[in-house]
Amino acid sequence: MELTGGMTQDTRCGHLSQIRDVGPRTPEGCEECLQSGDRWVHLRLCLECGHVGCCDESKNRHATRHFHATHHPIIQSLEPGERWRWCYLDETFV
Ligand SMILES: [Zn+2]
Ligand SMILES: [Zn+2]
Ligand SMILES: [Zn+2]
Repeated sequence: MELTGGMTQDTRCGHLSQIRDVGPRTPEGCEECLQSGDRWVHLRLCLECGHVGCCDESKNRHATRHFHATHHPIIQSLEPGERWRWCYLDETFV
């Protein structure tokens, strides 16, 4: 698997058109974890609706759960200094 660092657009993903101009709905943390009082490791932003969820290293994996519930395919890291995007459907960086 080749990693291009996210700077070049990967044409294997046909879902980039689903990206909207959204900002994080809950910039302070994972939407569901904030409600339940849980903690998270890293944050991921859904680029289609602005949902903020926790990563797969977090026990609740709300970003992945959000994809399964909504089929919004593309997330972006919300971690400072990280700018990569991931497509769940293609399982590739985009
Ligand atoms: Zn895709
Ligand atoms: Zn969470
Ligand atoms: Zn979403």
